[in-house]
Amino acid sequence: MEGILYIVATPIGNLADFSPRGQQVLAEVGLIVAEDTRHSRNLLNHYGIKTTMRSMHEHNEEHQVGALVEKLRQGVSIAQVSDAGTPLINDPGFRLASAAREAAIRVTTIPGPSAPIAALSLSGLSVSRFTFEGFLPAKQGAREQLLESLATEVRTMIFFESPRRVMAALGSMERCFGGSRRVAVARELTKLHETVHTAPLVELMGWMDEDPNRQRGEFVLVVEGASGVVEDHAEAYRLVQLLAKELPPRKAAAVAAQFSGAKKNQLYRSLME
Ligand code: SAM
Repeated sequence: MEGILYIVATPIGNLADFSPRGQQVLAEVGLIVAEDTRHSRNLLNHYGIKTTMRSMHEHNEEHQVGALVEKLRQGVSIAQVSDAGTPLINDPGFRLASAAREAAIRVTTIPGPSAPIAALSLSGLSVSRFTFEGFLPAKQGAREQLLESLATEVRTMIFFESPRRVMAALGSMERCFGGSRRVAVARELTKLHETVHTAPLVELMGWMDEDPNRQRGEFVLVVEGASGVVEDHAEAYRLVQLLAKELPPRKAAAVAAQFSGAKKNQLYRSLME
């Protein structure tokens, strides 16, 4: 009998989020493959799990895969975990899962927490179509080149960002997407200081600056997709702002819409934002 490879999601902050089935699988498999064994030891100790662990991270995954597939072939079941959330999602495990599948070994999942999905569900932004972009490039030039290429993306976009670069990333987004684009900053999800704040970029930077604690911890940035109207009718958005100085908002939106062909409701909403 061959072993089974389990892809096991673990908590992203709150240890109580670990599913009973996840606990059972980690306790019963022959080996746990962890991104960082010291980190996963906390989870195992919390649940009294004593299974042997081996470390597998992005730098040694390729070398480990052959031996692990061999173990699976010999009948040892293996659980793959990462430091937090769902393995493979910007975390190690892809090569092992692919190799196991190619070797016709059963690969299954113990689903659970994942920071991008948790952030999306709390963002207040459209969830019907979305794209996951992982970490933004650290250097401003590369970051803005990537963001420029996403400026007309209509789906909601999900990014990871480190606390050191979160303000720089928001600044780049404002330059590439415009100040009216709404972004949700999802911070420290499931932890004591969980905060989710959604606002147009033009306001968001100020809100982040008001309290330095808002720039600490782990972040997911969820960005509203381009509306098409923003892209095609940038002039209309400037016009409605000018008209609103003289006219009530609804009237300003109606006149700007008539003049530009942009949608009245969207122009009105941009004023309300
Ligand atoms: N595989 C993981 C998952 O499914 O959630 C994601 C791994 S990725 C290397 C780690 C990044 O996820 C962090 O740098 C941060 O951007 C985000 N993240 C993880 N936990 C988080 C949390 N509790 N709150 C907000 N963001 C979090």
